Amino acid sequence: MIKKNIFLSLKWKTLVVICVIFTCAVASIGHTIYTEGTRLFEEQLAESIRNNSSALLDQHRRSLIEIGTSVSLAGRNTEANISEESLRHYLDNNWDLMELEWGLESLFIYDIATQSTLTWGRESDIDFDKMLKRDVTKGPSTTTLCTEFCTIYAKIPLYFMNGKKKYLFIGTGLVDFIINFAQKNHLKAALLRKSSQINHTSSSFESLPHWHVQIAGMTEKEAYFPIIEQLANVSTFETVKQNGKTIHHTPDDQYYYLYAIPLLDNVNHSKNSEFILLANNISHEKARIYDTMAYSGLITLIGLICAIFIVFYVLNSPMKRLQQQAKLLPLLAKKQFEYVRTSIRHHQRFQYTRNELDVLEDTAIKLSSELEVLYDEIEQRTGELEKMALFDVLTGLANRRMFIEQLKGLIENARKHRERFAIVFIDLDNFKRINDTLGHDIGDELLIEVSKRLKSAVRDTDTVARLGGDEFTLLLPQIKSLDHAKVALDKVLEKFQIPVILNKNDYKITPSIGAAIGPDNGMETDELMRCADVAMYKSKKNGKNCYCFFTNEMNSALQEEVKLEAELLDAVNNKEFRLFYQPIIELKTGKIAGFEGLIRWNHAEKGLIGPGQFINTLETNGQIIPLGEQIIELACLDRHYLNSLGMSDAWISINISAKQFNDPLLVDKFQTLLKKYKLKPTSFQIEITEQTLISDIDKQAKQLNILQKLGFKIAIDDFGTGYSSLAYLKKLPLDTLKIDQSFLKEIPNNRNDIEIVSAITAMAKNLSLTVTAEGVETQQQEAFLKEIGCDFSQGFLYSKPQPLELINQSL
Ligand code: C2E
Ligand code: MG
Ligand code: MG
Repeated sequence: MIKKNIFLSLKWKTLVVICVIFTCAVASIGHTIYTEGTRLFEEQLAESIRNNSSALLDQHRRSLIEIGTSVSLAGRNTEANISEESLRHYLDNNWDLMELEWGLESLFIYDIATQSTLTWGRESDIDFDKMLKRDVTKGPSTTTLCTEFCTIYAKIPLYFMNGKKKYLFIGTGLVDFIINFAQKNHLKAALLRKSSQINHTSSSFESLPHWHVQIAGMTEKEAYFPIIEQLANVSTFETVKQNGKTIHHTPDDQYYYLYAIPLLDNVNHSKNSEFILLANNISHEKARIYDTMAYSGLITLIGLICAIFIVFYVLNSPMKRLQQQAKLLPLLAKKQFEYVRTSIRHHQRFQYTRNELDVLEDTAIKLSSELEVLYDEIEQRTGELEKMALFDVLTGLANRRMFIEQLKGLIENARKHRERFAIVFIDLDNFKRINDTLGHDIGDELLIEVSKRLKSAVRDTDTVARLGGDEFTLLLPQIKSLDHAKVALDKVLEKFQIPVILNKNDYKITPSIGAAIGPDNGMETDELMRCADVAMYKSKKNGKNCYCFFTNEMNSALQEEVKLEAELLDAVNNKEFRLFYQPIIELKTGKIAGFEGLIRWNHAEKGLIGPGQFINTLETNGQIIPLGEQIIELACLDRHYLNSLGMSDAWISINISAKQFNDPLLVDKFQTLLKKYKLKPTSFQIEITEQTLISDIDKQAKQLNILQKLGFKIAIDDFGTGYSSLAYLKKLPLDTLKIDQSFLKEIPNNRNDIEIVSAITAMAKNLSLTVTAEGVETQQQEAFLKEIGCDFSQGFLYSKPQPLELINQSL
């Protein structure tokens, strides 16, 4: 089962894809701008802080040296030399001022020779000797020393007038410097001392255990310490030292960039190292980056809307065209070719460039044209096929299918308008014989002629059809009474009065006609056709060349026939048949020359039934073959009986039906039975009707030859009723012609019959055949036969067919 999904236009799908792509692009660009912007900003900040702080430290150091130098110069009493006395005097007088003016913490004059120190300001336990040994610079320099507090010392060498060399050390506190530096640069600053051993005892030091760091001093302690603590929790000291770190300080909702700068000097006499941890409030810059992002986001959003609008605009027209095609293409199946083409053309606009849609539309137009041609062809062919399917190719009449359709229409019409109609079945009498003897082409000619006659006999509104072979049908609508139908059927019979010229010879063709009336005889096609068929068989039984209307009695006759057929089947199985015999008299001597065996059915209720009532049925259902074997066996038994009566010269004639004769096992069966009863073929004559010998002359001649060579005499029964020509007879190995009893009936009154019988006899003589006349009932007939030289005579004049023992008694 096909699952029907929700329809979503390509247009919307494309828009969704564009939105997703744009959003991803914007997110990724925004993210890049933000991270890169922040990184660059932080890098630049770090760089500038580093440079600034280094420069300021240098400057501070330089200014400390300058102070030292100016102090040393202040102690000069002559132009060239410094007097120790005057320097000391100067310092004693000016120290307080210098401490205040320059923020000095302490001042020392150190004598290397005596390792003695003169001190102004705060006392110190500095080992000046060690410091000087470490300091490789001979001239003025600075050193940062940290004990409890960090101090920057400027070292100035002093050359006194008395030749002594001493050193002037002036120190200033680093914390003050940093505070000064931070305030000037709007920074928060802290002096960190990295130490493996954290001194918890000192109350003036805050410590950061994660970093192994002690804070020697800081600006805005209340505000800055929580920030440093937060930083120490989220980052290592190394990271802060190398790259700096930005944190968001939640309590004041501010962003800080923190960076640690080492305080490196040319002398480092402490194991500990000091760093300045600077915090720059970058909230403002962050906000600017966010603003930039928001701005670029807005621009992107506007761009996205514009893109959606453009895509919508660009896709709208193709989508509409595609939808139009989707609506139009199914119309091709409804054969609306022209409409499809004009609709597509109507929507096409001139364009400088072509796209896939134009190609598709052109293809659809081409497809519709080609399909139109194809459909036309199909319709034409279908018409031809329909004609072939509905009309008979040979005669051009309606065929069975068409006939049934028309019949259905008539039935429907009769139902609605209470009209009566006639359905007529016409079968040509003896058509098979003409077809077989004159050939199929002549047979076809006859069928065409018959179809013309039938058409000319009825009205244009009537239907003439050929169901197959020589079976024709008529449908006569609007029959007011049975007489109307009779008039039409009389006209049909009249048309057959004129002989048909076939192969330059005149042939009298007669029809057997059966008619049924709808709705009187039924309202179903099958029912009406069966009724007409039954009526047609009644016509055949009535002597052909006539018509019969269906009656209910016919139906019961038919039922009788069906019943009989079932009974016959049992009768063959139960061997309920016996042979009666009729003597055949030699006209010259008047003696019995032979006996013809004639079958009788010994019915338990109806008594003896003649072959006329069952032979055809058995012939049709094939039961004639097993019955034929029983007949031969009965004849063999009677042969012995005749022999016992001393009539071994008289032959026994056995009638063989067409189906039996064409049975390839017939000869074997004869031989087996003759062998069984130890009899010779010469004491039997085989009678085959003229009508049997018409289907395959060569094959049948061969069969007859075999039988004749075995010793059987061969006779053609009912001669004169068929179409045997002289040439035809010459081909067959025959012994006797049996002239049909119909020719004897009116002798001597009918001149024609006299001539026919005389001619047949003369012809037979010519062919060296003996002649037997059947149905001889009168002395005159016998006299006539004698006169014309007929050999044998058979008829009621001598004896009716009887059981052999009864004939024996009458002889
Ligand atoms: P058939 O072979 O031409 O037999 C002659 C028929 O003419 C017999 O009719 C016979 O009773 C009848 N008949 C003889 N003389 C006269 C007469 O003077 N006047 C009249 N009106 N009729 C006479 P039956 O016995 O009814 O047989 C009819 C046909 O049935 C036979 O015609 C034969 O074709 C067929 N038939 C009879 N017995 C057999 C049989 O054993 N096997 C086969 N296959 N067909 C048989
Ligand atoms: Mg016979
Ligand atoms: Mg006969």
